[in-house]
Amino acid sequence: MDLVLFGPPGAGKGTQAKFLVEKLRVPQISTGDMMRAERSAGTELGKRFDSFMTKGLLVPDDLVIELLETRLKRPDAASGAIFDGFPRTVAQAKALDGMLAKHGRAIGKVVALDVPVDVIIDRIAGRRTCESCGHVYHVRYNPPPPTGRCAACNGDRIVHRDDDREEKVRRRNAEYLEKTLPILGHYGPVVAKVDGTGSLQDVTRRIEEALGQG
Ligand code: ADP
Ligand code: AMP
Repeated sequence: MDLVLFGPPGAGKGTQAKFLVEKLRVPQISTGDMMRAERSAGTELGKRFDSFMTKGLLVPDDLVIELLETRLKRPDAASGAIFDGFPRTVAQAKALDGMLAKHGRAIGKVVALDVPVDVIIDRIAGRRTCESCGHVYHVRYNPPPPTGRCAACNGDRIVHRDDDREEKVRRRNAEYLEKTLPILGHYGPVVAKVDGTGSLQDVTRRIEEALGQG
């Protein structure tokens, strides 16, 4: 099963991807997490992502596609994946279609999380992210453990992402509206719009229904 979790920054894609990994037994592929890992490891590739990510701009397609191509070759993604934060442009969507087609695969569903802008702002303002493993919390709705250590990896750096600050969020949202939203036209018939409001469990249940697994 190849599935795209779609929606604006802060819609809940990463959060829901974690539940779906268990259910569908395919890996989550988050280009944002992969890029942050490259940056914190200080690699040459990470340095090339730096200026775009700090400004809240999309990283150029050729760099993202190369990153994705390498990731898809790993054996855990041989029978499917949950794509989170990718594709983000129509060119990326076309490249992904091509990579999957080589293995007789195709995107089966694009789950488009529908969340009003005021809810998005509240979610991003309260988001806290583990710098070590990318696990995501929210100060009120899903708080980090009182020990300050990540429940997933025991890391002690749970931070407010720099690009989650207001000015950059506005920039990222503008990028989403201009460059990412048109992807829904590309995927047309396999798009399932899902109400992304309510509790984590409410959203999971709606996604499972949309996938015919409820
Ligand atoms: P995305 O991957 O789409 O950018 P995240 O999964 O990181 O979004 O979610 C953004 C923030 O909102 C995180 O702090 C997360 O804990 C919180 N969140 C996600 N889903 C819900 C929900 N249904 N209710 C309340 N908070 C949520
Ligand atoms: P995310 O973690 O998905 O919110 O992504 C954080 C940042 O990483 C984005 O604002 C972009 O700068 C960059 N990024 C992540 N995924 C992509 C992608 N598929 N295409 C271009 N840039 C991306």
